[in-house]
Amino acid sequence: MSEKSEHVKCLIIGSGPAGYTAAIYAARADLKPVMYQGLQPGGQLTTTTEVENFPGYPQGTMGPQMMEEFRQQAERFGTDIRWGYASSVDFKGPVHKVIIDEEKEITADTVIIATGASAKWLGLESEQRLNGFGVSACAVCDGYFFRNQHVAIVGAGDTAAEEATYLAKLCTKVYMIVRRDEMRASKAMQHRVMNTPNIEVLFNTETKEVVGEKTVSAVKVVNNLSGEERVLDVTGFFVAIGHQPNTAIFKGWLDMDKTGYIITKPGSTKTNIEGVFACGDAQDKIYRQAVTAAGTGCMSALDAERYLADRGIH
Ligand code: NDP
Repeated sequence: MSEKSEHVKCLIIGSGPAGYTAAIYAARADLKPVMYQGLQPGGQLTTTTEVENFPGYPQGTMGPQMMEEFRQQAERFGTDIRWGYASSVDFKGPVHKVIIDEEKEITADTVIIATGASAKWLGLESEQRLNGFGVSACAVCDGYFFRNQHVAIVGAGDTAAEEATYLAKLCTKVYMIVRRDEMRASKAMQHRVMNTPNIEVLFNTETKEVVGEKTVSAVKVVNNLSGEERVLDVTGFFVAIGHQPNTAIFKGWLDMDKTGYIITKPGSTKTNIEGVFACGDAQDKIYRQAVTAAGTGCMSALDAERYLADRGIH
């Protein structure tokens, strides 16, 4: 093999809670995992501040710190953690090819995909500047910080509807900003939103600006029919306009739903290609929590271990 090529037993792509948990289990099972961290080492949690819902941290912890601890735990058992991202794959043969940084070829007996998902954002400068300082893409993660306060959430799908009702239990007032004259969410979810007294739905409304110096102090919105502007007195701004799984390089190889979430066989992390497993947000559009990602990361390492054992690959 050329210098640019290398064979590994277990290749892990991605370094969020799913990838690191897969690495901990795979390393302890002596699969000698090699992990490529991807473009955002540590994943989505590195963009959050405090994490209070991960079991085992009674006082809470900071997202970046938690991911650093995940990394150290994976390293402690011998995971070979590397910089680099998977730029393309070839899953034709029994041995799987993955190209790193568009040049280095890795062949692997098993591949664990833990490439996660990225939240979609509106694209406003103020939204990015205050991200983590009152702006969040995860109500379940950050809603608690805004209890007894006023917040706004933008989006009209099932996620936005679910998160609006979740926030309504914690916050005194929730504005739901919907760009059309109707919601995309299921009728049942819409019904729940409409019957929650402290949610005010603003139809035909778009966000102009998130206001605030260091933290959010208000949100400026505009009615896209009348042009009328309004300033919402809120301290939290949640964006729930969908997620995009980071799975583009697997298109054509792996079965996916229409958004690009990898389809795994029920009760496992197996994909349609033998020896290729998917875990975390790359295959989960429903739960999307660090702890559920970690759970499926564990499953993928156990699935990979069994796959190798069944084939006598040591
Ligand atoms: P969706 O793609 O279903 O909805 C996104 C929403 O965001 C749409 O209402 C869309 O508006 C709105 N939106 C998109 N871009 C903008 C923008 N720039 N400005 C303002 N609004 C915008 O994403 P979800 O995350 O809600 O759901 C993803 C999938 O997961 C769906 O299939 C959903 O059913 C499923 N899901 C199921 C749950 C459950 O069963 N419990 C819970 C959560 C999700 P518009 O409608 O105008 O396009």
